[in-house]
Amino acid sequence: LKSKLPHVGTTIFTVMTNRAREMGAINLAQGFPDFDSPELLKELLAQKTSAGHNQYAPMIGESSLREQIARKMQANYGRTVNPEAEITITLGATEAIFSAISALVHPGDDVILFDPSYDSYGPAVILAGGRPVHIPLQAPHFRIDWQRVREAVTPKLRMVMINTPHNPTGMILSGDDLNQLAEVLRPTDAFVLSDEVYEHMVYDGARHASVFGHEELYARGVVCFSFGKTMHATGWRVGYAIAPPDITREIRRVHQFNTFSIATPLQLAIAEFLKQQPSHSNELSGFYQRKRDLFLRQLQGSPFRWIPSEGTYFQLLDFSGISSVQDAEFADIVLRSAGVASIPVSPFYQSPPHLDVIRFCFAKKDETLIEAAAKLRQLE
Ligand code: GLN
Repeated sequence: LKSKLPHVGTTIFTVMTNRAREMGAINLAQGFPDFDSPELLKELLAQKTSAGHNQYAPMIGESSLREQIARKMQANYGRTVNPEAEITITLGATEAIFSAISALVHPGDDVILFDPSYDSYGPAVILAGGRPVHIPLQAPHFRIDWQRVREAVTPKLRMVMINTPHNPTGMILSGDDLNQLAEVLRPTDAFVLSDEVYEHMVYDGARHASVFGHEELYARGVVCFSFGKTMHATGWRVGYAIAPPDITREIRRVHQFNTFSIATPLQLAIAEFLKQQPSHSNELSGFYQRKRDLFLRQLQGSPFRWIPSEGTYFQLLDFSGISSVQDAEFADIVLRSAGVASIPVSPFYQSPPHLDVIRFCFAKKDETLIEAAAKLRQLE
């Protein structure tokens, strides 16, 4: 069989979660909470299904949900979005990203990705016939080198993908980074695809700099978000894409034949939840910062070193004080000898450098974090 993605194996998240399960390890690998979604959300879902909302939702998404999103965007970023023309509900942010790339990237187009890049980006570009142009971010701070970006701009450039807060590194882009990007793209007609699923998880008083909030970038932007993250409901697979009307029109051309529409009762339950608890998402930064700080406090005195995560619910730990092996091998050692599953960072590079950091998810109950840290402290 002639594969369309010959270099792609099973996603590292599935690999590590399966291994964690086999070994009975604590799973700090795949990013999902080990605590449940809010009671109210679950009750609303039960109500919506028993009230008979069990048939196809509108292709672009339930209007009540799109209206709640528009209200939230206005409150958080101070800009108006038209829910009819600019918001599309998708099957998680993964579908938003995939549909946007399929709709906008033509065969032979260049798409700039920053490595480590989330593992779905490159394959989506390749399936659209595009060419991923990988620009590495340098450890330990993983900042974008804008000079390198300037040098990578060619007439074939069709899209730049960014991700802030950044998975897997926990780095966030500043307003100045967005200004730099706007400047680089000014002479081009390239799109910006911005994965902002961790928008509500930024720490130490930082503010999330969104492409949606940046007028010039948004004019060429697609911004992808996720209710899996904000509702502690990764299994619901509900996300959305926000883009100007002409771009949204193209995304919907693909979305309608990709997933058509997203589970009706899930959309209605989320819409009602947002209406009843409009401040829920604003509490997430504090909630997750406490978890990050608890995890790091528990690791005091261990041989790991770290730069506290600026955003996302992931923390990189530097293991160079313990071992000089490559990250994937070290993740394996941690799994086998400490019983804690993590995610190596090298799978997110086209050409991985030597890496001495691995990623841990802290979207876990306090007791899970305490237990995992105790096991990690024993590594030497
Ligand atoms: N986004 C999740 C993570 O980074 C993984 C989601 C998935 O497994 N597809 O851990």
